[in-house]
Amino acid sequence: MNKEQPIISVSHVTKRFGELEVLRDISFEVHQGEVISLIGSSGTGKSTLLRALNMLEPPTSGEIYIDGELITAKGYPLHKMRQKIGMVFQSFNLFEHMTVLENITDAPIHLLRLPEVQAKEEALALLKKVGLVQKADAYPSELSGGQKQRVAIARALAMHPEVILFDEPTSALDPTMVGEVLSVIRQLAKSGLTMLIVTHEMRFAQDVSSRIFFMNEGRIYEDGQPEQIFEHPVHSATKAFVQRIQKLVFEIDSDDFDYLQIHTGINRFCIKYDLHMGEQAYALVKEVLFTHMRELRPLTLRMTHAELAGVTSLDFMIEHIDHSPLNDAARESLRGQVKQLIEEPTTRGFRVKLLL
Ligand code: ADP
Ligand code: MG
Repeated sequence: MNKEQPIISVSHVTKRFGELEVLRDISFEVHQGEVISLIGSSGTGKSTLLRALNMLEPPTSGEIYIDGELITAKGYPLHKMRQKIGMVFQSFNLFEHMTVLENITDAPIHLLRLPEVQAKEEALALLKKVGLVQKADAYPSELSGGQKQRVAIARALAMHPEVILFDEPTSALDPTMVGEVLSVIRQLAKSGLTMLIVTHEMRFAQDVSSRIFFMNEGRIYEDGQPEQIFEHPVHSATKAFVQRIQKLVFEIDSDDFDYLQIHTGINRFCIKYDLHMGEQAYALVKEVLFTHMRELRPLTLRMTHAELAGVTSLDFMIEHIDHSPLNDAARESLRGQVKQLIEEPTTRGFRVKLLL
């Protein structure tokens, strides 16, 4: 293959669903070895763009070239292109009635016409790569979500694709399983495979990508290296998106409140953002709710995390009071356990903020 020639070239692509214009005048090129993350709010056209690239959603207008061939041309043999472009979906899409091994060998045997022995050999090597050789004879229903997704990745790789498209590969997973899937994708990125990845994992996107597309209103609003997008975004919409803050909120109105729910919620939040402070955060919440603010209900508890800045905090907000509910002993105890204690009036009441 000509090294100068892009693997993918998209020119003025638009996509409409009836009146709704979902992709607007999209043009870009992807070269071999690039790892591109597509980020942006939901509904901005990220999935539609990936699906247009392998003609699962043919564009309304515009052109797409794969390896220099115009795949949007009428009558272009799509199976030819689908062998070059693998896709991994949020929902795994494994065949439930086939074993893991059969899921992986099915397309190579039937579409690539690989001898069965060779297809099996390759499948086992791929399963080894994603850490699941011991599951070769299991059925999908016997696997966890993270394992299913790793099988789906192995299945895509079995077709020797030039490009793999990932559409939110970790969004359907329990937070405890996100890491194992991201680490497989990281390993593929290092191996030089060309990939486009729709993801909400900002840290991951920042580490793994050579380039980021920030999508907004059906356009690639900003296209740049991770350093530009995350540290010096050109557009204010990009900045607002990448610097957004993740929140977990509990309204506590009585002492019958389900505290187990807070414990679980905080732990899942911490696992999701890779924060090693779940138990510490819950101990602080318990101390504040049962000791320092015992009498104060209703109360809003909020845990926030700014992913890129790496700042995590616990806020306790009480309406209709105009002074801090903390006494000196409470202050002293909390200061010993957090990076910073902030007590501040708000428009509706008072907030005690603990920076962790
Ligand atoms: P994202 O992946 O960024 O969340 P999508 O590409 O899924 O966004 O969707 C973009 C817009 O297109 C949304 O408004 C969605 O409702 C709409 N859309 C997507 N697929 C279809 C479809 N098959 N028919 C009609 N509208 C669709
Ligand atoms: Mg989507």
